[in-house]
Amino acid sequence: MSRTIEITRNHLHYMFSGELKPAAHAAAGDTLIFECVDCYSNQIENDEILFEDIKGELNNPATGPVFIEGAEKGDILRVDILEIEADDRGVMTVRPGAGLYGDLLDEFKSRVIPIKNNRGFFKENIAVDLQPMIGVIGTAPNEEIRTTWPGEHGGNLDIRDLQAGTSLYLPVAVRGALLSMGDLHGIQGDGETVICGLEMNGRVRAKVTVLKNRSDIPTPFIVTPTTYVTTFAAPTLDEASRGAGHRMHRFLLEHTDLTAEECAMLLSLAGNLRISQVVNDLKGCLMDFPRNLAGEKMEL
Ligand code: CA
Ligand code: CA
Repeated sequence: MSRTIEITRNHLHYMFSGELKPAAHAAAGDTLIFECVDCYSNQIENDEILFEDIKGELNNPATGPVFIEGAEKGDILRVDILEIEADDRGVMTVRPGAGLYGDLLDEFKSRVIPIKNNRGFFKENIAVDLQPMIGVIGTAPNEEIRTTWPGEHGGNLDIRDLQAGTSLYLPVAVRGALLSMGDLHGIQGDGETVICGLEMNGRVRAKVTVLKNRSDIPTPFIVTPTTYVTTFAAPTLDEASRGAGHRMHRFLLEHTDLTAEECAMLLSLAGNLRISQVVNDLKGCLMDFPRNLAGEKMEL
């Protein structure tokens, strides 16, 4: 009998770690609801509170972790993101010296952005249609990693594809996987160039499945309604782009009848090499590829 399990904002943590006590236990088929708080832990209450005023150690909380029954080291956890429910407000901050434009900015600024009817009201005459996404989502790694870091365990991925209707495949490094998530964005562009998206509280509804013996899935891996997406985080964009591209090349080689040369050619025709973010402790790149060109028989 499947259950609905809610993980409230009383269960925040700042480290992905196998040592964490589970906030809940769940099994495949259960519906999980994660109540997430924004990446500043709601410290930016109005435009007068600046990034320099808040406690940095409270930034980037994740809600969880959830122990997934049956998940063993070496398995893969598929997380189906079913729904991301937005709050009625989001916040942004900018700061001199940080992000892509830090050298162009002299002042710290904060902005509270009202959300209504699925739009963020940036200014009176500029409203942005929301595309809610999850910034931080991951499983416990072998060694603990702060929630500000992206990596092989997921973590601070800041990939805008992680919206409702997508599935994320994560590695299981410890028994129970220990899934957590947070850092919701009402919307964020590729690159997350100012270091934040439309940071907001919200609730994520998700389901999980444990996959055995699937070393063919290059985690962290994303399946959207139309694309497969490989990811890679590294100190430089050069390394991250090569990593994401190589992972997709291997994935196509393994799952299609194409030769290595054909995979390379097809990727150059229809694959998109993208920057997910340039502002975290490691930089992130993606390679997305249309599902309809990758064959029909793929079972993931
Ligand atoms: Ca983030
Ligand atoms: Ca964020």
